[in-house]
Amino acid sequence: MPSKVYWGSPRQTQLDARETLPAKLDLILDELNLRERVNGKRVAIKLHLGFNLGYSMVHPVFVRRVVEAVLEGGGKPFCTDVAHSVSDAGKRGYTEETLGCPLYPAAGIDEKWTVRHEYPFRGISEFHVAGAIEEADFLIDFAHVKGHPCTSWGGAIKNLALGCVDGPTRSAMHDVVEFEPYYFKDQCPDEATRVAIRESCPYGAIVDDRQDPDGLHLHPDRCNQCMRCQAVANGALVIRRSNFMAFLEVVNIATKLVLDTFEPGNVTFINLATHMTPVCDCFGFTGLAVLPDAGVFGSDNIVAVEKAMLDMTARTTIIEENLPATMEIVSREGHPWQWIHGQYKDPYEQLALAEKLGLGSQAYELVDVLPVKEPDFKAVSYIQAAPN
Ligand code: SF4
Repeated sequence: MPSKVYWGSPRQTQLDARETLPAKLDLILDELNLRERVNGKRVAIKLHLGFNLGYSMVHPVFVRRVVEAVLEGGGKPFCTDVAHSVSDAGKRGYTEETLGCPLYPAAGIDEKWTVRHEYPFRGISEFHVAGAIEEADFLIDFAHVKGHPCTSWGGAIKNLALGCVDGPTRSAMHDVVEFEPYYFKDQCPDEATRVAIRESCPYGAIVDDRQDPDGLHLHPDRCNQCMRCQAVANGALVIRRSNFMAFLEVVNIATKLVLDTFEPGNVTFINLATHMTPVCDCFGFTGLAVLPDAGVFGSDNIVAVEKAMLDMTARTTIIEENLPATMEIVSREGHPWQWIHGQYKDPYEQLALAEKLGLGSQAYELVDVLPVKEPDFKAVSYIQAAPN
């Protein structure tokens, strides 16, 4: 049976607060029966609080709606994220006062409060899941949707995978893309060719290998698979789909390990698809939105909530004039996030792998919590300007 995904459209019929996204989030929380499910439970609300000058993360107005629902249901909420994001979160408007509940670093201030989970994958032997997540009884995964240079996109899955583990686990996860070799120096005839391969990349994705003066190192996050380098590499450097997909797969694995620490029925997922920038909130700034707002989505099925959001955003196109000058559309195949981050960072393939791993089913039924009604007479809803 398809999972219900509750959706609040960013569009309004009337210019009325009850039709805005925070109010539609309230309706979604009602549909998810959140209050009825949290009584007496320690409820972790996992956010990405961004860094430095970022301002497009989930705004405290939205977080507060969730916190108040949990409190009304008799739960004990706390908000959480990685330590370095929590440490200066107040600068971006996230405080106990604005959120209505405490804000804790998920793995402690030194990221040493973790629980070890063995799971061999491409050179990784174990993942360390944050202690505050392990000790919570209920998890609300509240993600801001945006682009991401490693996965092409970030939503509910990435919010858990990279935000509920410690720093060494995050680093090891990023390294899986290098598990399969991609530079073959015996195929490189001379130094001039090695330099030509390096210089062929307009994004600086190919650099000298710090460990090997004859080697080359690929930064997959900067690579959009434009394949310019392949024209000069002659097999010495290979841009391989499986290397890129490995990161999307490890993200699924970490998410599964996080979710497996909760009893069935004690997790729920919200995706806020507004101000979707080309790169992650961890970049420490907010650029222009490159996809139109798609609204707010909520479900108890993490794969379904991601799929519904991806399907909705796939109906739109990249706002090209909002792209940074150094980014380009490489291809218009696949999801718009792939247009700018590359075909080998395939969000739909990631969801297929997530389904295989048992994270949830992709089948969903979209329930619009407050459908927009087209009025007979368009001008009727304009607010009268206040008299001077
Ligand atoms: S395929 Fe990747 S590494 Fe090669 S030139 Fe294009 S962006 Fe650079």
